[in-house]
Amino acid sequence: MKERIYYNDSFKQEFKADIIDYFKEDDKYHIQLNKTAFYPEGGGQPADHGWIGESNISHVYEEDGKIFHIGDKLPAKKSGLSCKINWERRFDLMQQHSGQHLLSAVAEDLYQAETVGFHLGESNLTIDTDIKLSQEKIEEIETKCNQLIYENRDISVEYPGGLEDDTRVIKIAGLDKNLCGGTHLKNTGEIGVISIIDSENYKAGSRLHFISGQRAVKDYRFKNKLTAFLRDRLSVNDQNIKTEIMRLLEDLNNKANTIDKLKGELLRFKEDELIGSAEVIGDYRLIVDSFTDLSFTELRDLASQLVSDNDIIIIFGQQESDTTRMILARSDNIAALNLNPVIQEVMPLLNGNGGGQPDFVQGGGSNPEKLSEAISKAREIIVKSIN
Ligand SMILES: [Zn+2]
Repeated sequence: MKERIYYNDSFKQEFKADIIDYFKEDDKYHIQLNKTAFYPEGGGQPADHGWIGESNISHVYEEDGKIFHIGDKLPAKKSGLSCKINWERRFDLMQQHSGQHLLSAVAEDLYQAETVGFHLGESNLTIDTDIKLSQEKIEEIETKCNQLIYENRDISVEYPGGLEDDTRVIKIAGLDKNLCGGTHLKNTGEIGVISIIDSENYKAGSRLHFISGQRAVKDYRFKNKLTAFLRDRLSVNDQNIKTEIMRLLEDLNNKANTIDKLKGELLRFKEDELIGSAEVIGDYRLIVDSFTDLSFTELRDLASQLVSDNDIIIIFGQQESDTTRMILARSDNIAALNLNPVIQEVMPLLNGNGGGQPDFVQGGGSNPEKLSEAISKAREIIVKSIN
């Protein structure tokens, strides 16, 4: 396949070519060349980006044996065009791709773990093995990969079916042979480094997340900054960050428990205070109040707690951000009083509505100016109906 330059020379960054065909779709031009060094998406390797003349190429794909380059414009010239691969991107993708070959080869070589799936995305790189690998084995694999990088083993391409055949075997000297149509580095040294950054159980085996080359260096830089941030904020050295975070989380948890306990005690004081200030109407005690410092959940709990005693009737108002709410509640023994019609009568004042059980209703609206009027009105209706 002479027109696929990347097959024989994966280091070709610039070349001259002619446009032999094209079509336009959604403002983009799908351009076909007489030969290309652009790698079309496939075999788990993302497509190259770059330039064909003045056209910016953002994707390359293969369809029915033809390679199409998607560009933002159609070059004015049709022949002898200067074409250029975005080399930073391609070299990164080759580091990841060749890194994957090496990683799979070492996993198989050391622990007979076969790669049954892989993903080489623009940011997420994984291989899936057919057997589970322990953390210890994963670290051994990582160490061995990097040893083979230092040994700078040759990576070569063989054509068992001859040059006109598409069948290509990629070989890492002394190690691995793989059928593959992707672009590769010339030796393992160019991979630079392989870092297995995470692992998880996947189906019957393990999924290893890894990065190679410059991408690993960038990741290391990011993690160094993160570690420095934690070290400075926590005022500990690197080795003690983990212990310090565990200590802080435990401390936080203890404090949250203490706050819950204190809030409970505060609500009991509030209960006593409210009962002490209740208005006595015949056999009943009417408690009327409005709040801004308690959450609605806390207010509901307070109301439920108060009416667990006999002969209590509650009218609560609450203002929280943009919402004005009311709770009406009564003890079980005041069965003749149905609070539903009361809430339905007063909520329109707050531009809202409400409802619930006959002994416990709530409503929400958006007119805080009318809250005290709504409370008075509810009081009036209730007093009238219990007399
Ligand atoms: Zn490959």
